[in-house]
Amino acid sequence: MKLCFIGADHEVTGSCHYLEVGDKHILVDYGMEQGRISFEHVPLPVSEAEIDYVFLTHAHIDHSGNLPLLYARGFRGKIFMTRPTADLCSIMLRDCAHIQMQEAEWRSRKGKRNKDIKQIEPLYSMEDADNTLRHIVACDYGTKIDICEGVTIRFTDIGHLLGSASIEVWVSEKGAEKKIVFSGDIGNNDQPLIKDPAFTSTADYVVMESTYGDRYHASEKPDYVGELAEILNRTFARGGNVVIPSFAVGRTQEMLYFLRTIKKDGLVTAVSDFPVYVDSPMAVEATEVFGEHARECYDEEAMALINQHINPISFPGLNLAITTEESRAINEDETPKVIISASGMCEAGRIRHHLKHNLWRPESTILFVGYQSIGTTGRAIVEGADEVKLFGEVVDVEAEICKLTGLSGHADKAGLIRWLQGFSDKPRKVFVVHGEDGVCSSFAKCLDEEYGYNSYAPYSGTEFDIISGQIIKEGVPVTAVKKTTKVVSDVFTRLRAAGARLTAIIARSEGMTNKDKAKFADQILALCDKWED
Ligand SMILES: [Zn+2]
Ligand SMILES: [Zn+2]
Repeated sequence: MKLCFIGADHEVTGSCHYLEVGDKHILVDYGMEQGRISFEHVPLPVSEAEIDYVFLTHAHIDHSGNLPLLYARGFRGKIFMTRPTADLCSIMLRDCAHIQMQEAEWRSRKGKRNKDIKQIEPLYSMEDADNTLRHIVACDYGTKIDICEGVTIRFTDIGHLLGSASIEVWVSEKGAEKKIVFSGDIGNNDQPLIKDPAFTSTADYVVMESTYGDRYHASEKPDYVGELAEILNRTFARGGNVVIPSFAVGRTQEMLYFLRTIKKDGLVTAVSDFPVYVDSPMAVEATEVFGEHARECYDEEAMALINQHINPISFPGLNLAITTEESRAINEDETPKVIISASGMCEAGRIRHHLKHNLWRPESTILFVGYQSIGTTGRAIVEGADEVKLFGEVVDVEAEICKLTGLSGHADKAGLIRWLQGFSDKPRKVFVVHGEDGVCSSFAKCLDEEYGYNSYAPYSGTEFDIISGQIIKEGVPVTAVKKTTKVVSDVFTRLRAAGARLTAIIARSEGMTNKDKAKFADQILALCDKWED
C-alpha cells in the first residue's frame, strides 16, 4: 500500500494525491493548476484508464477541474463526493469546459489571421464534462462507505465551501489496517451560512492543507454588515451604483446573506428599497444549490432563519436569473443599485460590461470582496490604475474603489493547528500540502518544533509506504517550464492516452473466453493495419 504525492505540493493549486491498495488505484482530488505555477507535477503512476476511484474533497476547480480530462483519457471508474459537492460540480465543471472551449475557439480564430498564435484544442469538451458527471456517486456526510475490499471512506464537514469535506480513508491489505485523513481545504470559523470545520478524532497519517500556514486573520471579526451598509449609503447618496465583482459560488451567497441583514435592519437610508441584481447565470444556479442543501450544511444562525421559513440569502428587491438583454438594461435604469457579477477578478464574464458602465462614473463604487491575483484586471483596479482596457476600449477609473477585507474561506495558522489538535492522539506523520513553497515548509517546521508533530512537506513525486510508515522515494522539485497555466491539449497526448486505455483493458481481459480474446486481438490487429502507414 502506498501514497504518492502528485499535485499541490509546495503549491496551492492542482490538488492530487494517489493511493494504491491491493490492485486498486485511487486518486484523492484531481484539480486544475491555476495562475502561477512553480513546480512540475510528476505524471500519474498508472494511466488514467487504470484509475478505479476518485475521492473528491470539494467542488473548487483547483481540486475538481481535471476530472473531465481524466474521463477524456480513459477513466471510467466512480467518483465519490458529498451531495452538495455533486450539485456544485455539475455547475462548475460544465462552466470550466465552456471557458476552455471559448478560449480554444478564440485562439483558433486569431490563429487564422496570425501564424504566431498557436491553434489549440480545448483540454476537454462539454461532452467530457457531462460524461464525467455520470460517474459521480453522491454520498452523505458522516456515513462509512465501503468502496471495495480493503477501502472504506467517510466524509466530514470541513466548513470551507458548501459540501466541502475532509475524508477519512481506512485501508487494509494482508491483515494490516491503517487510516489516512485528507483534510481537503479547512474552513474559516464563523463564515456566514455554512458550519465551522468539524474535527476528526483518529488517524495514522494526515495529509493537510497549509494555504494560510504563515498568517493570522484579524483577531476581531470585522463588522462586514456595518462596513457594507456604509459603502451603500454613501454611494447611493451620490446617485451611483455599487458593483461587486464576486466569485459565483460561495462569496456571492455570503454577500446576499449580508445584504438581507442590511435590508431587514433598515441600515441603508439613502435608498432603502434598493434593488440587488445577481448578474451571473452560474451564481444564480449556485444560489439554488445552497438553498437545496440548507439542512445538511447551514450553521445554527442560518438554520434559525430557515426554521422561521426565512431564506437567509433572499429578500425583496433581489433580482436573479437575468437574460443578456436584461443584463444590458440594468445600466440604462438610473436607480442606484447593487450589481453582483462574475468573474471575481474581472477577467471574463458579464462583470466587464458593468465595469464599462460604472468605472468612469465618480458617483459609483466598485467593491472588491475577494483576492485579486497578480496580472488580473481586478488587481490593476485595486492597485489604483487610472484607466483599464475593456473590450478593446480604454476606460477611465473615476469610481470609488473599495475593499471588504478579511472574508476568507480558509482557516488561518491558528485554525489549521486547532484542527490538527482535534485528533485525540498525535498522528504518526503529518504531510503538509496545498501551500506556497515557503509556507508549507515553514508550517511543517513549526508543527515539529513548537507542537511536537512529525511532519513533512513533500514535493511532487514523493512516495510513502503506508504499512512501514517510511518514505520510499523523495520527490525532487523541478521548476516549471511554463510559468502560468494555459489551456493546452495536444492531440498526440490524447492518442497516447487512448493507447494506454487499450493496454489497461488487455491487462484486465484474463477472464475473457478464448473466443472473445481472439476476436479482440483480431480487431486490434485490423486497427493497426489500417493506421500503420
Ligand atoms: Zn477550496
Ligand atoms: Zn484548494
